[in-house]
Amino acid sequence: ITSKLPSVGTTIFTTMSALATEVDAINLSQGFPDYECSPELIELVNKAMLDGHNQYAPMGGVMQLREQIALKTEKLYGAKYDPATEITVTAGGTQAIFTAICTVVHPNDEVIIFEPAFDCYAPAIKLMGGVVKSMELQPPDYRIDWGMVRKLVSNRTKLIIINSPHNPTATILQKEDIDELSALVKDRDIFILSDEVYEHLIYDGATHHSMARYPQLAERSFIVASFGKLFHVTGWKVGYCLAPAYLMNEFRKVHQYNVFSVNSAMQTGMAQYLADENVYLGLPFFFQQKRDHFAEGLKQTSLELLPSHGSYFQLAKYGHLSDESDIDFTLRLTREAGVACIPTSVFYSRCTDHRIIRFCFAKKQETLDNAVNRLINFK
Ligand code: GLN
Repeated sequence: ITSKLPSVGTTIFTTMSALATEVDAINLSQGFPDYECSPELIELVNKAMLDGHNQYAPMGGVMQLREQIALKTEKLYGAKYDPATEITVTAGGTQAIFTAICTVVHPNDEVIIFEPAFDCYAPAIKLMGGVVKSMELQPPDYRIDWGMVRKLVSNRTKLIIINSPHNPTATILQKEDIDELSALVKDRDIFILSDEVYEHLIYDGATHHSMARYPQLAERSFIVASFGKLFHVTGWKVGYCLAPAYLMNEFRKVHQYNVFSVNSAMQTGMAQYLADENVYLGLPFFFQQKRDHFAEGLKQTSLELLPSHGSYFQLAKYGHLSDESDIDFTLRLTREAGVACIPTSVFYSRCTDHRIIRFCFAKKQETLDNAVNRLINFK
């Protein structure tokens, strides 16, 4: 077979989670909670099954869920998305991202991404015959240099992919970034794919600058969100995409022949659960406590922390401790200290190793404490 993705291996998340299990390490690598979701949510999903929501959902998603998504989006960002034509429920954020890329990218179209970048963007672009134009963000702030972005733009630029709160750097876009982005795309036929799966995981009272807040950006944006992060159920694989009708119409042409529709009982249960706004309004505080607790603990180790403004990730530098590549260091940390994390070099297309690793703190306090104790003793 001629590989369509010759330079792609197994994702780092699969690799590290498997290694963590194999060597019995505390798994702070792949981003997922190690605590249970609300029993009430499980009951609602159970009830939906017992009530007979067991056949295909409508292609765009269960209408009650789309209506709740529309309400939440309007409440939080002041934007109206029509549940009938502008909201589609997807099998997780990753599927929404893939489908959006598939919808707009033609062969030889250029797509701008910012690295380190979540690892599913580039393969999807390449599968569509698109060309990845990546810009590297520099630690410790990982701010976007918009002057450099302007140099990357050409008449072939079809799409810009942004991600805030950002995986893996835990940075967030500022209002100035929004202004720069608006000026950049104005009068150009460039679409935006905004990966906002960590929209509710934002700290210290900061504002999440959703594309939905800015009509001049929303009119050309696919916005991707995730119930995995919102309800602590990454394994349920349910997310959604928001886009203006002219884009969503094309998105659904792809979606209907790839996924058709998503698990109906879960959507029905989730719709009822989402009706209570406290479910999402409490999330920043819930995760900020975890961030602070974990960071306090890590200060007792020799790792050097970078700020975490959003997402459930914490970056740490180890270059002053070892010359190893971040992959070697991660493997040794997993095997010898018994704490699995993610090397950030895997999020770059060029060889870039800043000796920085990523931990996920969406864990029980006890798990975080155990991990810190192991890291304190690691030499
Ligand atoms: N988003 C999660 C992370 O960055 C993992 C998602 C996945 O494994 N596909 O850890």
